[in-house]
Parts: sequence; structure tokens; C-alpha cells
Amino acid sequence: MAKVIFDENSCKGCELCAHVCPKKIIAMAKDRLNSKGFHPAEVADMDKCIGCKFCATICPDVVITVEK
Ligand code: SF4
Ligand code: SF4
Repeated sequence: MAKVIFDENSCKGCELCAHVCPKKIIAMAKDRLNSKGFHPAEVADMDKCIGCKFCATICPDVVITVEK
């Protein structure tokens, strides 16, 4: 199973990763803010992740690391 790790305080909540995820499992955490004041990206259902790394590739701020 793949694991998606976010450097949460570097996220600016642009939602690009959410748009490219083929499984549509990334969303911005509406219940909290990071240190920059943005709702950070998170994976809702890690079990559905296929480890494609599209999210990590698209992120302009290199927030995401995907481990297989
Ligand atoms: S690795 Fe692929 S499936 Fe997993 S969260 Fe990122 S874009 Fe979605
Ligand atoms: S693409 Fe990067 S900066 Fe944008 S919401 Fe996703 S993790 Fe945050």
C-alpha cells in the first residue's frame, strides 16, 4: 500500500493535487489551518491510493512525498 506524506506547513491549499488525483481521495482539511493560515491538503482514504505520484509531481511547493 502506498503512503502519502504532506509537509503540511508548506501547503498553500491550491488544490492542484486534489484535481489531478485519479482516485479523488485528496481534499483540503476544512477543520484546521496550517502555520501559513491555509487549509492543508490531506488524503481521506489512504487505502485507495495507487501510488501514482501525480499529486507529488504537480505540487508547486514540493509538499508531497509518496512512499510505496
Ligand atoms: S499517489 Fe496518486 S492516487 Fe495516491 S493520493 Fe497521490 S495522486 Fe492520488
Ligand atoms: S498541490 Fe501542494 S500546495 Fe497545492 S494543495 Fe496540494 S499539497 Fe498543497
